[in-house]
Amino acid sequence: MPIAPNPNPDRSRSPWRDVPDDEFWSWGWQVKHRIDDPETLGQVLELTDEERRGFDETRGLFRFGVTPYYALLADARNPACPIRQQLVPRPQEAVVRIGERADPLGEEPREVVPNLVHRYPDRVLLLSTDRCPVYCRFCTRRRIVGRVERQSSRALLAEAFEYVRAHPEIKEVIVSGGDGLMLGDNQLEHVLGTLRSIEHVEIIRLATRMPVTCPMRVTDRVAALLAAHGPVYVMTHFNHPRECTVWAAEACRRLVDHGVVVYNQSVLLRGINDDVEIIRDLNRRLVSMRVTPYYLHQCDLAEGIEHFRTPLATGLAIIDGLRGHSSGLMVPQLCVDVPGGLGKVTLVPEWIVGRTGRYTTFRTYSGETAEYLDPLPSEH
Ligand SMILES: *Cc1c(COP(=O)(O)O)cnc(C)c1O
Ligand code: SF4
Repeated sequence: MPIAPNPNPDRSRSPWRDVPDDEFWSWGWQVKHRIDDPETLGQVLELTDEERRGFDETRGLFRFGVTPYYALLADARNPACPIRQQLVPRPQEAVVRIGERADPLGEEPREVVPNLVHRYPDRVLLLSTDRCPVYCRFCTRRRIVGRVERQSSRALLAEAFEYVRAHPEIKEVIVSGGDGLMLGDNQLEHVLGTLRSIEHVEIIRLATRMPVTCPMRVTDRVAALLAAHGPVYVMTHFNHPRECTVWAAEACRRLVDHGVVVYNQSVLLRGINDDVEIIRDLNRRLVSMRVTPYYLHQCDLAEGIEHFRTPLATGLAIIDGLRGHSSGLMVPQLCVDVPGGLGKVTLVPEWIVGRTGRYTTFRTYSGETAEYLDPLPSEH
């Protein structure tokens, strides 16, 4: 049997206990009633002094916001809760450490027209909106995300589409943001329809954390819209098994049932998911939901997030603990987006323990060794 999802959050003792079901569990209500101040959050979570200081000290640095759905997933009493740490600002965010940069992935120099980042030869990143239903405290794009809270205007998007149209080497467009599903249905249809009208665009990717932060956004209409413009790959962003609720599973089921491929990209976060058992549990749940783990991201060097970062060795140890021990479907690639925007690299643990002539010696997941013999060079 597939793993049963976690229960949905309980709102029976929340400020919204009397909101009718069909309103509370709708994406429109969730986004409209997004919590954006510590007073309201304090009605859901017992905020510590440190968390209150976090609000004061990060004001103006990076917007705070969370859907009632996601806030209710957090533990009301425990500040170390993995959901809570993703959404509540901490004072450390105000401290910029050595090596950190406002634009860690060098996106600005590669922004060829407004809101379009062209870093790789065959694919581009479209920043379609700067809004998100939840502002993740570790966001790598915090320099732009949530700044003005707007969608890119049709005129600005038109410039991006013109660029794609004029560059036949672009085979893939990644619709991102912000959260790609903050676009309304009509705007989404406009974006997907325009991209599909460009002959050389083969693949559309949509980057959204909505299945995690506001799963009710993934309506049948959205799933059908994506399917109608396929192949569309949805890249979502689960970081912790607790996020795999009935609602989240339903959002993923809708997408996959409509024929949309769903991949997950997690970010490795200190004290939240930097543990092989947690990542294994998460990925098991995702695969049960027909979502394939794609990348496990090393945290970027964005300003004010050093408290979330782990050493590279932690990620390598996690991959080492997964490969062979668990189904290969559950083993993501450990990905480092190198500082400066030169691109992503993937890391694997050291499986080769020796090389002599044509012989390569491997260690296996269970600690045994084995040799592989290269062929003799061809004589022709
Ligand atoms: C991450 C990223 C991509 C996609 O990279 P993949 O390795 O294909 O997933 C494309 N463009 C930009 C600018 C990116 O940051
Ligand atoms: S959903 Fe993505 S873009 Fe938005 S705040 Fe979270 S990490 Fe940043």
